[in-house]
Amino acid sequence: MNVVWLEENKIDLRDVAPSRKPDEALIKIRKAGICSTDLELVKGYYPYTGVLGHEFVGEVVEAEDTSWIGQRVVGEINVVCHHCEQCLNGRPTHCENRTVLGIVNRNGTFAEFTQLPITNLHRVPDSVPDEIAVFTEPFAAALEIQQQIQIQPTDRVLLVGAGRLGQLIAQTLALTGCDLHVAARHTHQQDLLRTRGIRTIDEEAIQPWRWDVVVEASGSPTGFALARKAIRPRGTLVMKSTYAGDISVNLSSMVVDEINILGSRCGPFEPALRLMESRQVDPTGLIAEEFKLGDALKAFARAAESGVLKVLVQT
Ligand SMILES: [Zn+2]
Ligand SMILES: [Zn+2]
Repeated sequence: MNVVWLEENKIDLRDVAPSRKPDEALIKIRKAGICSTDLELVKGYYPYTGVLGHEFVGEVVEAEDTSWIGQRVVGEINVVCHHCEQCLNGRPTHCENRTVLGIVNRNGTFAEFTQLPITNLHRVPDSVPDEIAVFTEPFAAALEIQQQIQIQPTDRVLLVGAGRLGQLIAQTLALTGCDLHVAARHTHQQDLLRTRGIRTIDEEAIQPWRWDVVVEASGSPTGFALARKAIRPRGTLVMKSTYAGDISVNLSSMVVDEINILGSRCGPFEPALRLMESRQVDPTGLIAEEFKLGDALKAFARAAESGVLKVLVQT
């Protein structure tokens, strides 16, 4: 089968035989989305060799439990051991022995087929089309913020960055009724937010030391600096980006201002599917272009262009 293979910071199309471990399901990929993490992996943020991709919707074609065959599914990306200290204490996404789809020691989804344990899979409701279902994983990641902290309707919340993940975070934060403002660089990112009734704010208009919660989703050192400046004393700074390089931070000022720093990664799939099913969130405005798997290298080039939101690969 055709796959997008990453090795030594280079991607190319390769022919690899699909395989299935006895305790896992073989999934035919229908659509897969290019995420900023994929682009960071190509730049070398984490040393990974193998098939890229972790955002997908697909159909189960082989599984020991035959009731899953033919089901349209999305899949959680962390494959865990169930017996390490983290797993036994309710932190499976931090499993010490985990593999991660298309990121750590597990071939991903820019391929005709991928494989995952059945326990990682979630059935997609019939009313949620593929081009929406493919956003389940990043919507779940956006919802992780609300798993971690309670956002009050009275909270003044600033989101820095309105890219692929930022747009989804904005849609989920807006549901809390908080006083949300989003710092978005590109005009079409701002327009997309405004069509959903979400307020944007110019960088110059962001008051320092005023925001109860600041979510950093820009992935850039300048975005981090802006977020740091905006957060009020004893406020919570939610870190939603991975960074390709190191970032320089004045940690003493964080101590003086008693800032809570919260790293935030993978989140719950079922609420993400529910919100998409009820159309309380709608990611379709993010889709810039869709490519065939054979044109995946073009798809990656398109996704890397400045300001481009979601690029999908169809197999
Ligand atoms: Zn991702
Ligand atoms: Zn474990």
